[in-house]
Amino acid sequence: MKTLPPGSTIGILGGGQLARMTALAAVRLGYPCHIFCASREEPAMSVAAAHTIADFTDRAALEKFASAVDVATIDWENIPTEALDIVAKRTSVYPSAKVLRVAQDRSEEKKFAREAGLGTADFAVVHSPAELEKALKNFTLPAILKATRMGYDGKGQVKIETGTKPASAWKEMGGAEGIVESFVPFACEISVIIARRADGASAAYPAVENIHRNGILVETHAPANIDHAIAAEAEHLARTLAEKLDVIGLLAVEMFVLKQPNAQGRRVLMNEIAPRPHNSGHWTIDACAVSQFEQLVRAICGLPLGAPAAHSRAVMHNLLGDEIKRWPELLKEPNACLHIYGKAEACKGRKMGHVTWLKGAW
Ligand code: AMP
Repeated sequence: MKTLPPGSTIGILGGGQLARMTALAAVRLGYPCHIFCASREEPAMSVAAAHTIADFTDRAALEKFASAVDVATIDWENIPTEALDIVAKRTSVYPSAKVLRVAQDRSEEKKFAREAGLGTADFAVVHSPAELEKALKNFTLPAILKATRMGYDGKGQVKIETGTKPASAWKEMGGAEGIVESFVPFACEISVIIARRADGASAAYPAVENIHRNGILVETHAPANIDHAIAAEAEHLARTLAEKLDVIGLLAVEMFVLKQPNAQGRRVLMNEIAPRPHNSGHWTIDACAVSQFEQLVRAICGLPLGAPAAHSRAVMHNLLGDEIKRWPELLKEPNACLHIYGKAEACKGRKMGHVTWLKGAW
């Protein structure tokens, strides 16, 4: 595969905190970043070497951006795949539109995992309250209804319990298509982030444990408190998906760990995938020699991947909304590594920054 030397420009579609942290890692290795996003207020703008402020539907702006960069990537999986197709005519884009098409749709990603021989919660695709009502006959409650597209941080999700009316659940979900899935009584939630190059070389970070509140990630504990066999099953799941999807760049896989093996003898079920840096990998900036962001740069530029080993155990805590006001006290803590994304407004639940506490040698 072609190696892009330092000095080459990396284009990033999206200007959020993931683009910001990718650009910081890139510039450290000598790669300036060109950010394509919708507004000057976005977090990556203050660290961008160049920028395009335009909509993802602006063909002329996308073509100009593609001509100005040596390789392109994304910081959000819901970017229209048409935008990627336009950019891909002029430069290499990782991940590919093919990978995004799977990752943008909860039913597609679950079908893909099943076809790859991996486990997921039982699910059914539904298109109307009537279809939901019919599908629920095959589920033991509680179940969860999720919009198949554009769902993130728990948005577009409704828990269905005895007595929940299908019509009101459908309305609350707010999508044109949904999947109803069985509620998994998990022991814990984990994720694995894997980096992969075009030649198939890959490197997986150790599995970490994720704590969510109202569907939003609150904390990541590295490593996950799971036994070796479960960690191996989780890594196998992530690696299988990255290979079958032919991901170039990063793939983050969120999973449920079951309390007991299920009927197929599995302890790990896939929940969701994201072909980009992931919130549950922010700890790698401070606790690993090579962070997930640098790994992305290495993978898409054809550089050797770094060892995904950690030097410290760590706890990453998201600073949501007003919690960002804790910054003065966090700065006084000796083992706290503080990251502030530079967002102007601290709306409720908004990811304003994070702190990683280093917890001693790995
Ligand atoms: P998701 O957007 O699918 O990652 O869901 C957000 C969070 O909701 C997950 O991290 C879980 O904490 C919870 N959740 C989602 N789906 C299920 C499920 N089938 N069973 C139990 N909890 C779930």
